[in-house]
Amino acid sequence: MLSPNDHVAVAVSGGKDSLSLLMILKKLTLRFPRTKITAVTVDEGIESYREEAVQLASDYCQRLEVEHEVVSFKEIFGSDLDGYLKDKKDRLTACSYCGVFRRKAINIAAKRVGANKIATAHNLDDMLQTYLLNLLEGDVERFVRFSPILQDPRGQFLTRMKPLCEIPEKEVALYGYTDELRFQSASCPYMGEALRNELRSIFNRLELAHPGVLFSAYRAMLRLRKLAEPGIAPANLNACSRCGEPSVSSMCEACRMTGESILQANPLPIIQ
Ligand code: SF4
Ligand code: ZN
Repeated sequence: MLSPNDHVAVAVSGGKDSLSLLMILKKLTLRFPRTKITAVTVDEGIESYREEAVQLASDYCQRLEVEHEVVSFKEIFGSDLDGYLKDKKDRLTACSYCGVFRRKAINIAAKRVGANKIATAHNLDDMLQTYLLNLLEGDVERFVRFSPILQDPRGQFLTRMKPLCEIPEKEVALYGYTDELRFQSASCPYMGEALRNELRSIFNRLELAHPGVLFSAYRAMLRLRKLAEPGIAPANLNACSRCGEPSVSSMCEACRMTGESILQANPLPIIQ
């Protein structure tokens, strides 16, 4: 996933996974001095939740002497998540919007700091949940596209990687405790809306009763993905016609979700 000359933007939310990832990558850079890391944090604007996490991320970056870039939904999309959801009738789950907006915000922040790769802290549990969610939602294209490393063969868009993809959530947490990490313990108020949450409970119960089942299921997902790949037309990433960010169609999901009114009032920064 990594090369010695990389500049990696590490997506740091302030939770245990992302802070542990930052610590691990920082340790690696001490052995590879040409590698640079910069932490990027997205403030979604979730009242009484995100403020603490942003502060924790910022404190830890100071401790590790890692540069830190914070971007907010408000700055990029013209509205924070709370405000956006309040105005929305017949809405999807909060996470459906939040995930799309955050992905784009991380891209923008990574380009702003001059990174060539983005590292996110998806652990084994997250990976498995996402594969299964895509299957449950019948989205085979997304199931095939979801991968531990996503690289644009033409080199137009930043590579995204998930270095903790084979580490169970509990082990990531244990690793964090060894460095006396202080991370956010409160859960997001919107968390209960997500089907992902139910899958998490199911997998936790299964792993307790049948240790190792997460690993075998993850391996199966990777193999199924490979088998399904030839039957699915390769999704060439295009530049979104509105904002220039990577998209599988002519306009990216975030631009479609935000609609023209917000975008016109708050034009998105297009960063080359
Ligand atoms: Fe966003 Fe959902 Fe995570 Fe809350 S739980 S931060 S709404 S993705
Ligand atoms: Zn767009």
